Amino acid sequence: MLRILRIQRLPVDQFHVKFAVQLNDTHPSIAIAELMRLLVDEALLPWAEAWQVTCQTFAYTNHTLLPEALERWPLEVFGRVLPRHLQIIQEINAQFLEEARIHFLGDEARIARLSLIDESGERYVRMAHLACVGSHAINGVAELHSELLKRDVLKDFYELWPQKFSNKTNGVTPRRWMVLSNPKLADLISEHIGADWIKDLAQLRTLEPLADNPEFRARWREIKQHNKQEFAALALRRTGLVIDHKSIFDVLVKRIHEYKRQHLKVLHIVSLYHAVKSNPAIEMLPRTFIFGGKAAPGYHLAKLMIKLITAVGEVINRDPDVRDRLKVVFLPNFNVTNGQRVYPAADLSEQISTAGKEASGTGNMKFSMNGALTIGTLDGANIEIREEVGADNFFLFGLSAPEVFALKTQGYRPMDYYNANQGLRDVIDLIRSGSFSRGDTELFRPLIDGLLNQDPYLVLADFQSYIECQAKVAETYASPERWTRMSILNTARSGKFSSDRTIREYCADIWRVKPVPIQLLTHAEAGIA
Ligand SMILES: *Cc1c(COP(=O)(O)O)cnc(C)c1O
Repeated sequence: MLRILRIQRLPVDQFHVKFAVQLNDTHPSIAIAELMRLLVDEALLPWAEAWQVTCQTFAYTNHTLLPEALERWPLEVFGRVLPRHLQIIQEINAQFLEEARIHFLGDEARIARLSLIDESGERYVRMAHLACVGSHAINGVAELHSELLKRDVLKDFYELWPQKFSNKTNGVTPRRWMVLSNPKLADLISEHIGADWIKDLAQLRTLEPLADNPEFRARWREIKQHNKQEFAALALRRTGLVIDHKSIFDVLVKRIHEYKRQHLKVLHIVSLYHAVKSNPAIEMLPRTFIFGGKAAPGYHLAKLMIKLITAVGEVINRDPDVRDRLKVVFLPNFNVTNGQRVYPAADLSEQISTAGKEASGTGNMKFSMNGALTIGTLDGANIEIREEVGADNFFLFGLSAPEVFALKTQGYRPMDYYNANQGLRDVIDLIRSGSFSRGDTELFRPLIDGLLNQDPYLVLADFQSYIECQAKVAETYASPERWTRMSILNTARSGKFSSDRTIREYCADIWRVKPVPIQLLTHAEAGIA
């Protein structure tokens, strides 16, 4: 960027006029110290001017509400690897804390919380604090997330600089997540409303009246069936499992994490299995449970959750009592390429994180655009999806973020839920008995004991609500016309979740850039032979 300024003979103090730099999470936030180094040490700008330029250049997007996920580097390591950058950060901190002390006179506890250096024990550089101080704009990625940043994670910064904060709800690109991945659905839509929706997703709204058209509904269903058959062929190649494309495809694909609660889904599956074993003649909606997702290499409990999913699958998939009514598939190597085959084949989108933990989610948007119905909590962008598609077209369950907060404040006791709920006891006891681990009662102990003793993500508190909501899902799926109508309305009302809308908001509110009309010339007009 500095080279471009030089070539264009623009003064370096105009850097922020020419460039905007968006910090996509804290990972690149060292760039704030690096730009200061370049401006002060190499371009020889006075510190105060360099700081003005830097703050006007950067903006920061936060992506997580989990405090343990906020990046921190041991001061000692930092100083050894980047000594000059550490000096610069310490100078930024000194000037910042001077300003903060005037604003929060006498509140030294607040000053210690705001500092770029965590001095409570071993010293750390707080990269999110560097990002906040060195940026003129700070945003979250869904309405609830941005509110919780102001109220909780970045409260002290919000009280210092409320004008820096805004929301930019995430989106996904309809070119990849509809046109490329679901061409048959894209063609059907274009056949009825033209192709302009691909560049202006709000136009999907004009599909709404077709939700009441039986022929259109039949074609919508045929395409979903086709996508499900294609996925079944992929699943057979990758896992050797035969799945029934007439069963409901109930899909939970995302990174494996306790807050995303893959274990809550497993408790549901085991409860259905327990019902079959107690009464093999029971009537039950045939379900295919599709999982996908990776665990971080050092995250032991997440790996144990994958083990639990595949272990439950191995038992259920070969039990003759189940008679193919329940199937569990774990699709290995979940990535965007495999995702393109999964989202268009889903009937039910599982968005079951503990309320207040998922910043936005984007998988939730991909599913809804492709006509899957969501079962979800009031978390992240689920809230906005439900607002758009309508409460009647969304399966809501579980505690809200304020209810989660209240329960934790009053003292949450997961054992009380276990003791009070026979169905929950049956499920936990079946896993504990070693039924899914060849009699090994130790294998899943860290997971099960974790749920009974701490359960930091309130899996047991939301269990009953989730089970009851899944019963409503089954009842609705039994009426194909009703389900299809809801599916069409989900796609028709998903226009807000195009990344085109998101990017326009960044352009208007943060980067202050306007569209540049591009004149398309013919070869002759451009003077090309
Ligand atoms: C969209 C996507 C995600 C994000 O999924 P969430 O359900 O929002 O967590 C993760 N991984 C891949 C491969 C994706 O395509």
